[in-house]
Amino acid sequence: MNSSTRNDHILPSIVYVYDEPSSPSFKIGEIADFLKEKLPNVDVMTRKEFFSFHTHDLGELAKELASAKVRGIEGLQVKEEPLYGEVQYEKRILQEPHRRTMGILYDGYKMLRVLREVLPENEATTDTAHIAFTNRIICTYEKGDNRFHARVIMCGFPSLISTSGLIEAPAKPREYYLMKQKYAAMDSEPPAQELKAAFEGRFIDYDDENMTQALKGYTLQSIFYHTTGEPFCEDKDCMLFNAHWQEEVLNAQIVSGQLCERHGKMLEEMVNGRRE
Ligand SMILES: [Zn+2]
Repeated sequence: MNSSTRNDHILPSIVYVYDEPSSPSFKIGEIADFLKEKLPNVDVMTRKEFFSFHTHDLGELAKELASAKVRGIEGLQVKEEPLYGEVQYEKRILQEPHRRTMGILYDGYKMLRVLREVLPENEATTDTAHIAFTNRIICTYEKGDNRFHARVIMCGFPSLISTSGLIEAPAKPREYYLMKQKYAAMDSEPPAQELKAAFEGRFIDYDDENMTQALKGYTLQSIFYHTTGEPFCEDKDCMLFNAHWQEEVLNAQIVSGQLCERHGKMLEEMVNGRRE
């Protein structure tokens, strides 16, 4: 690499995308095809679930994952050894990655560390991008309101994208919570039919047919992070938009499904740079 290109945005030459087998509506092949189309001349390859692919010592990994669990949603700095049962639970999930972890939150930064640690050294290079999908709910601690917040994506080396996070992290329409509250006051839950009728197409749900399409833009966020350090865009019609509401996700990823002009150009330049 000569000095004139050092500050240019250099795409990795290999991108690995890792399957998430617990969500039937998630299609890793479609994600790979999308990236191949966006990144011609980059080798995009699919692999099975990240931990199944890279890990041999399940016991040690299970312990690490149990240690990455968030304990209590308020600010916590306690360092606790995971319980035996928690480690066994993680081990079971690792052995059966098609099972969904329910109701457990994981610290996003700790998860990224665990991913990084199991990556073989010869693949831990900036020339190789790893995009792992998980059904685990990943969150980060926000000092502003002293709480953990669920995330769809943790950008890093590797990057981690959560299928459950896509459903749980961006807020649903306000009316949805009002309806839930109304029923909660009567000690009940809104009937599924009523929810469906009122909010059809306004958020992404488990096993939603829009899931794969909605996650394509997040893989581009991770590629932009890898290449430029900046994954997000302010333009709500851009696939890199950092959506906080479900309706924003649907708009950026499904209704638009495009990069804004600026990011489209940037990507084009990166692809051309790679070609030379
Ligand atoms: Zn943009």
